[in-house]
Amino acid sequence: MLVKEWDYAELAQKNKQYVWHPFTQMKEYIEDDPIIIAEGNGRKLRDVQGNEYWDGVSSIWLNVHGHRVQELDQAIRDQLDHIAHSTLLGMANIPAILLAEKLIGLMPPGLAKVFYSDSGATAVEIAIKMAFQYWQHKGERKKQRFITMKEAYHGDTIGAVSVGAIDLYHEAYSSLLFSSIKAPYPYVYRSPINGREKEQTDFFLAKLEEVLQAHHEETAALIIEPIVQGASGIIVMPDGYLRGVRELCTKYNVLMIADEVATGFGRTGRWFACDHENVTPDILTAGKGLTGGYLPVAITVATNEIYEAFLGEYEEKKTFFHGHSYTGNQLGCAVAIANLELMEKKNLILEVQQKSLYLVKKLERFRQLRHVGDIRQKGLMMGLELVVNRDAKEAYDWSERIGVRVCRRARELGMLIRPLGNVIVFMPPLAATTEELDAMLQILHQAIQEVTEG
Ligand code: PMP
Repeated sequence: MLVKEWDYAELAQKNKQYVWHPFTQMKEYIEDDPIIIAEGNGRKLRDVQGNEYWDGVSSIWLNVHGHRVQELDQAIRDQLDHIAHSTLLGMANIPAILLAEKLIGLMPPGLAKVFYSDSGATAVEIAIKMAFQYWQHKGERKKQRFITMKEAYHGDTIGAVSVGAIDLYHEAYSSLLFSSIKAPYPYVYRSPINGREKEQTDFFLAKLEEVLQAHHEETAALIIEPIVQGASGIIVMPDGYLRGVRELCTKYNVLMIADEVATGFGRTGRWFACDHENVTPDILTAGKGLTGGYLPVAITVATNEIYEAFLGEYEEKKTFFHGHSYTGNQLGCAVAIANLELMEKKNLILEVQQKSLYLVKKLERFRQLRHVGDIRQKGLMMGLELVVNRDAKEAYDWSERIGVRVCRRARELGMLIRPLGNVIVFMPPLAATTEELDAMLQILHQAIQEVTEG
């Protein structure tokens, strides 16, 4: 790699002076030496000082093939020879059309129309507004509320936060939010009942049915992270739960929104997590992996039933009045097409399934670590919940920063990861080879062992 000689101290100073980082306590951050990434190649990142790191969380859950992938780089260059961006408001462009066609071919059957935006949170905002307005157009004016899962995360904009339920991120804004109805999420490791998978599924579906019975008349939609609830700690649902949610939504005449921003595009070993249980939601949101981790494009995909409710004469004002400046961006759509084509060419979904089985075996070794309480995995989405005491499942106190400390050690050992509280998240790029996974897991194991067992 040809790295331009940057003056680290100068960049670090400018970073401190000008940049406010997301999800970062800046008071602490500016005291520390920042990592400043200069380059990426394959599954590795390199900083301006020449240190190399595995990209162990796929640059926040989105990288697919790796960095500087020839086919993806070329797709952007080719598109640049035509145009970078023109608006999708009332006019079309070539990559946005072709990508929409390709997406509908991959989606759970029944999803029919693609609405573009630029981040997971905007995709969720759009889904919320679509669901809300759908019922208004249908004349069911009482259906205005949303059911969400406890500990859900759907993004950081106000609508997305309103259907979110992680107190740490959301509580500060509570007086700004619309109130949503919370249903318990099937967090089996900390379930109030003992029982096998089937009993857990039945128990939590019964709980959800109680909520639906009480609130269905006022509810527009239920929103859920299918199969894996991500930001709460990579919590995998028991078998049959998602299918049951779909059935209950239909039974109680409530729309189902599946938020696949984290799980979409192969992450869980299927194109979409909904595919594991043959579920078609009424609205599906996705983003992250869509462009291979290159550019910000997100989608909200609806059935024809939803779409058609918005059709009418101009004067009827049924138009969906929503759009962002960069909606349908050509560079983003072009690289998304190249990403999906490369996934198909490499049969990446099958590969993820195989690597997922490989990881199941490899993760066995982590069970011997005294402070690993639960190991959760679906495809290449993994969370290891650390506990003070395995028998009592006693959680580490927040002030111990156990997750932060493990990730810090992993960084020293050459892998970048970010924790979710006491859960260590491991989410390598989907195309990571088994040798690369081995190297990353070795670091993960060592970091957990050294920090928790001292
Ligand atoms: N929904 C889910 C399920 C997510 O995991 C995330 C991000 N981790 C979002 C929405 C928000 O996406 P973005 O950060 O692109 O706004």
